[in-house]
Amino acid sequence: MPQIRRLPETLINRIAAGEVVERPASALKELVENSIDAGAGQIAVSILEGGLSRIEVTDDGCGMDPAEMALALERHATSKLPDDAIEQVATLGFRGEALPSIASVAKLTIESRVRGADEGWRRVVDHGVVSEEGPAALPPGTRVRMEHLFARIPARRKFLRTARSEYAACLDVVRRLAMARPDIGFTFTHGERRIFQLQAGQEVTERVAQIVARELADNGVPLDVERGEMRLTGIAGLPTYNRGIADHQYLFVNGRPVKDRLLTGAVRGAYADMLARDRHAVLALFLDLPPEDVDVNVHPAKTEVRFRDSAGVRGFIVSGLRQALSTGDRRSAQAPHAGAMGRWQVEPQEPAPALGSIFSGRDWSSPPAAGLSGRLGEAATSWRHDTGEVLAPHQGRAEVAQEVDAEAPDFPLGIARGQVANTYIVSEAADGLVIVDQHAAHERIVLERLRAAGAGDKVAASQALLIPDVVELEETDCDRLEEQIEGFARLGLQIERFGPNAMLVRALPGTLRNADPSKLLQDLADDLAKHGDSLLLGEKIEHVLATMACHGSVRAGRALNVQEMNALLREMEATPRSGQCNHGRPTWVKLSMDDVEKLFGRH
Ligand code: ADP
Ligand code: MG
Repeated sequence: MPQIRRLPETLINRIAAGEVVERPASALKELVENSIDAGAGQIAVSILEGGLSRIEVTDDGCGMDPAEMALALERHATSKLPDDAIEQVATLGFRGEALPSIASVAKLTIESRVRGADEGWRRVVDHGVVSEEGPAALPPGTRVRMEHLFARIPARRKFLRTARSEYAACLDVVRRLAMARPDIGFTFTHGERRIFQLQAGQEVTERVAQIVARELADNGVPLDVERGEMRLTGIAGLPTYNRGIADHQYLFVNGRPVKDRLLTGAVRGAYADMLARDRHAVLALFLDLPPEDVDVNVHPAKTEVRFRDSAGVRGFIVSGLRQALSTGDRRSAQAPHAGAMGRWQVEPQEPAPALGSIFSGRDWSSPPAAGLSGRLGEAATSWRHDTGEVLAPHQGRAEVAQEVDAEAPDFPLGIARGQVANTYIVSEAADGLVIVDQHAAHERIVLERLRAAGAGDKVAASQALLIPDVVELEETDCDRLEEQIEGFARLGLQIERFGPNAMLVRALPGTLRNADPSKLLQDLADDLAKHGDSLLLGEKIEHVLATMACHGSVRAGRALNVQEMNALLREMEATPRSGQCNHGRPTWVKLSMDDVEKLFGRH
């Protein structure tokens, strides 16, 4: 029987480090939080190789004297719970384990000088052992440097990813903390490069716009609602300003950046019928509530929280967001009335197809199921605008009917009679009335064309731009696109890296000659971020094609003439499985003549 023994301090710290220090970004988060807690007005972060070889955080906060510094490196030593009241915690840190944990798995150098002291002090701990100590020259404040992370723990080092993805994680950490505290100035440097410099004392909206995207200011609504002791502030992006990944949802609870299921679920709920399922809102939300109503001590990394009244919090966020989006700004998209759709007939929906499987042919020789077999019961609830685009004010336009050739075949989708809201084509078929969602339908057709153009070993035709377009993107996005340059070229999209933060677009796929290169590239980068590492090449291409298709298709809200409408209908009939859009929703619905007559009591 092996004997039970108390573990040595170094081992205890290393075990704790397993939870607190998972990768460079998690150590960085702890160090920046400490600087914020120390009352800093300026925080400078600099990292090397995505933080794998070095992370350094410098602040002008309260500093530590030599005795405090020694204590800070001991486990469960903290200056942050003055009344032992964990329910009332107002600082980002409180567990007193970050510094000893980091020091147990890396080389940690702390230099600090309290205001008014003549000199500072330095203490170096390498994998749990103090290796150097003595006076140091530095201005008041603290400088903490972490090097050689996991150097002596090969098992952990193995799990670290490339410098590129560690850099992306570090950037995300600094951004979120910087957004939480617009009163503090931040600089962030990667290697030789200054990534950002944020002035102290900014307005929240200004800071958010500077960090997330300049466009957010014009495409978002400010938010400031209260319920009881809860308050929700921030900026919510309009549904039209959406992204392919949820990475641009910045959520804060009492000034602490969190990644919380309840909150992201509430956001999804609020936008549910304004966004396609695979699109995500862009926003920064700050929820403030009494500290005793939220437990932050759920996980060592402190990014999850537990609310005392979770249903209340959820309801508050959903209604607050909805209210802001609908009343705060008339540009926001509206969900059409679903109840009215009850009696409409659609092409029978097959179970939500995976992208790869959508493409098997649809047999147009057998007309769409007659009768009401494909009734929109459930489908009606998902009947909403495809990309959440702004609906034009309702304006039906009847066109002079096109002369119908007497010998015209009996088109399943009928002859176009007009357009409603510049979005839906209304057509008359022999057996009923058809409404087509022009964007969804066209998107489908473009996808099929793109697939056909790049099938097999063929290289798709491309259309060179007269002047190559420079598209500015984040560095990480550029990296992802750069890795796929050859694949894109096969699809007719010719791009090149153009400096750290931009791509050069030389040619667009022929099918997409009118697409907006910068939106296209951003969506493709999001696509790769979302699916990047997990998919096979073939699957990746399918996603990329679907994203491209969206860019190459007729937008909702564009007026079409009768010829264009009929051309679209005929093309739909000729395109395999055009009854479903690329997201699995119907592209057209039909009300049979029989039902029209029932509606008017003729039956
Ligand atoms: P916690 O932040 O949970 O208290 P840490 O291990 O991160 O635990 O830090 C331990 C203590 O070291 C802190 O409570 C604080 O007193 C001190 N400390 C850490 N970083 C700094 C800093 N940048 N400036 C001043 N004091 C610091
Ligand atoms: Mg801390």
